[in-house]
Amino acid sequence: MGEERRDERGVREARDAREGAQEVGGSWGRSVRPEEAEAWEALVATARRTVSDGLVVGTSGNVSVRVGDTVLVTPSGVPYDRLTPEDVTGVDLDGGRVLGSLVPTSELPMHLAVYRATDAGAVVHTHAVHATAVSTLVPGLPLIHYMAAALGGPVRVAPYATYGTQELAENMLRALTDRTACLLQNHGTISYGTTLDQAYDRTAQLEWMCRLWLTAASVPGLSPTLLSEGQVAEAGERLRGYGQRG
Ligand code: 13P
Ligand code: ZN
Repeated sequence: MGEERRDERGVREARDAREGAQEVGGSWGRSVRPEEAEAWEALVATARRTVSDGLVVGTSGNVSVRVGDTVLVTPSGVPYDRLTPEDVTGVDLDGGRVLGSLVPTSELPMHLAVYRATDAGAVVHTHAVHATAVSTLVPGLPLIHYMAAALGGPVRVAPYATYGTQELAENMLRALTDRTACLLQNHGTISYGTTLDQAYDRTAQLEWMCRLWLTAASVPGLSPTLLSEGQVAEAGERLRGYGQRG
């Protein structure tokens, strides 16, 4: 081991000793806090829901939730039904591994970019079939329904880049300007929210809207009426007061 590596290890060990770190599943990390264990349970439930609701097949897609300065993420390539409470996987906002021994999702750059740029509490990425189909056809989802307003306005498609790259994260961040969801060209969806439920619901609404447009646009000889940006903005104003008060 070179001088420099030995120094690095010394610094890490000193920090770990200070922060009460312990060996977890063969890798170094601090122990899991109660609020992180609870958030992990909710994250796994959300990830499983993406599969049971048909938004994801196999190990496609990934989910994350922020707990303070730690981001819990689904590990890369592990089927969600195999995840146990011992598999808690956490990184800091720079992607440094702080919890668990499993390799974090390959889409860490996208998840971290969202947390750094917004007040997101959770992020959901899927390969939902109708949304992915739309991402191959148009540069933005046509204004087929006012629910676009619930995602901040007309949904954009982020230009294609290889999965897991910084380039994809940058393209995504541009497409997310003033939005809480976007499509990823020839890839899928990404949505964020204050909570896992909100991020999940936005993903489901986006997939539903894409399916709606594909259905309406595929009737031979007819093309769907579309809303204006003004009409969607007006719905957005009204949606602020939607649902139950108090
Ligand atoms: P991970 O299994 O690494 O999360 O990758 C799935 C995916 O959707 C990549 O874009
Ligand atoms: Zn993906």
